[in-house]
Amino acid sequence: MAKTTTKQKAFFKEESISRDNCSLCGLYTKVKSPKLDYTGGGRLNALIIGENQGRTEDDRSLQFCGESGQLLREEFADNSLDFEKDFYKVNAVRCRTFSGNANRTPTKKEIMYCRPMLEKTLQRIKPRFILLFGSTAIESFYMKEFSFEAINLWRGLIIPDTRYKAWVMPLFHPSYIIRNEKDMNLYSVFKRDIDRALEFVVANQNTEFPEPPALKPTILTNYNAIVKALTDINNSKEEYLCTFLVWLQTVCLEVNRNILFF
Ligand code: SF4
Repeated sequence: MAKTTTKQKAFFKEESISRDNCSLCGLYTKVKSPKLDYTGGGRLNALIIGENQGRTEDDRSLQFCGESGQLLREEFADNSLDFEKDFYKVNAVRCRTFSGNANRTPTKKEIMYCRPMLEKTLQRIKPRFILLFGSTAIESFYMKEFSFEAINLWRGLIIPDTRYKAWVMPLFHPSYIIRNEKDMNLYSVFKRDIDRALEFVVANQNTEFPEPPALKPTILTNYNAIVKALTDINNSKEEYLCTFLVWLQTVCLEVNRNILFF
């Protein structure tokens, strides 16, 4: 009998994690389209990660085919892109979450149980671009790496993720825009973020994923150290990036060599 290879062992381990997690989670027993796998043509090697199935998605076994999906399809079409053929799409939680007849936001446990399934998709597709729609998608993608998922802190960023060698773009979930349809300012931010993200995906189809810059972070914790650092910067010819609590922005910039954290 042939020996099980390391690759096969890893695969079975992953499968068993998923199976056990599904038993713990139990959502798959209550829905029409359990464990809905990713769909889409993926011509641009970009993966859209949503939150969870709504009723329409569960009925039709297809992600983003309800009202939210319609809004996204229109935005993508405005950018001459085909939502189905150009992108892969999957949800952070693969079974519909609901209370009575109403859809509900997935719990943290459900997101955690379903994370291995997302990992499997990421490993299989190896997307070059990842669009995270909504805070559930952000939480699932980053899990414990960050303690905050508030979408306002993330939206509009284009983050080079060295784990997956992919560009990650967090965006407002379209359902949030629909729930606040009178807020034209919100809609214009949503539209601008999407346009920018899609433009980036198209423009960077053939560019290499950058190697992480050689950073030399320095954390300054007192007044004198800050004054000295600023004086040194003033006298130096090197390029510095100074970060004041908005540190996430640093990750998204083409950083040069030095970072100061205050
Ligand atoms: S939501 Fe995810 S973990 Fe839960 S049963 Fe469905 S596929 Fe399994």
